[in-house]
Amino acid sequence: MLVVMDKKATAEQVDAAVALIESRGYTARPIPGGQRVAICILHNHGPVDASVFLGLPGVKEAIPVTHPYKLVSRELQPEDSVVDVRGVRIGNGHLTVMAGPCAVESEEQALTIARLVKKAGAHLFRGGAFKPRTSPYAFQGLGEEGLKILAKVREETGMPVVTEAIDHEVFDLVEEYADVVQIGARNMQNFSLLRRAGRSDKPILLKRGLAATIEEWLMAAEYIMEGGNTGVILCERGVRTFAHHSRNTLDLSAIPVVRKESHLPVIVDPSHAAGRRNQVIPLSRGAVAVGCHGLMVEVHHQPERALSDGAQSLFPEQFEDLLRQIKAIFEVYCRANGCGE
Ligand code: PEP
Ligand code: MN
Repeated sequence: MLVVMDKKATAEQVDAAVALIESRGYTARPIPGGQRVAICILHNHGPVDASVFLGLPGVKEAIPVTHPYKLVSRELQPEDSVVDVRGVRIGNGHLTVMAGPCAVESEEQALTIARLVKKAGAHLFRGGAFKPRTSPYAFQGLGEEGLKILAKVREETGMPVVTEAIDHEVFDLVEEYADVVQIGARNMQNFSLLRRAGRSDKPILLKRGLAATIEEWLMAAEYIMEGGNTGVILCERGVRTFAHHSRNTLDLSAIPVVRKESHLPVIVDPSHAAGRRNQVIPLSRGAVAVGCHGLMVEVHHQPERALSDGAQSLFPEQFEDLLRQIKAIFEVYCRANGCGE
């Protein structure tokens, strides 16, 4: 249930509503909005009696929340969320591009690619230091050394960095270095990791699981928000289907659905969806056309020598071309739909 306060409600009236909610054994989560404060009731098992709150001074209405997800839902917050990463804004009218190699392989590799993607117009640098690999014999990432290299990339280029925490064990370390902590597709329903992310003060990039429904994905985001972390960015990266012409099947229909259901920013990773370089630019064009808030793209200056995902990594010149193309599409999208902020 959402207890919506009147525009003119005082802070004391909001506090009184919170106190009444908590006295009933529920959790009250005030959500300040542009127009008014709404208080979300969490941890209720079974229906909540609205009449209890409707009599309180300053309370305008009590609306039942119809979805299992609450904090991520548009019912709760009609306005788009914007996640601020060291001044780079993600969501509501911004088209934010994260680019870099699949994995940080060396300082020279990461800095070379970072300079190139920055020049082309990328806003954030991506690169895995801890890699979730299918095979235990495959390159697992440089670990903390990789994180230190990412810190150098940030220092030299000014780009915030996004990198994955593959488990609970490495979360603290990753959080120290990263500007955005990524939770990968394989971990989308790792609930202890989601709870840890919920206690973080860093924004979280939450990838959609390989076979997750949109409801499961939003419920995973709910875990993070329930813990108190409001900086959640969703990332569609393709789901597993019968198709072999691409690594995964990019579900572009998820973008309008997520935007309808949730106020959270949602970006697209065409690289892990495609698995092949030649599909990345067309899928990116489609992603921007359907209204995503940004892209995460793998780029490598020597993809034939990459230690992971070389086949899907764009050459830097292709990345420049991609940015030119998506900017043009985004302008058209904004002219037709308005662009928020
Ligand atoms: C990645 O972005 O490095 C990655 C491993 O992606 P995903 O979790 O989507 O497979
Ligand atoms: Mn990769």
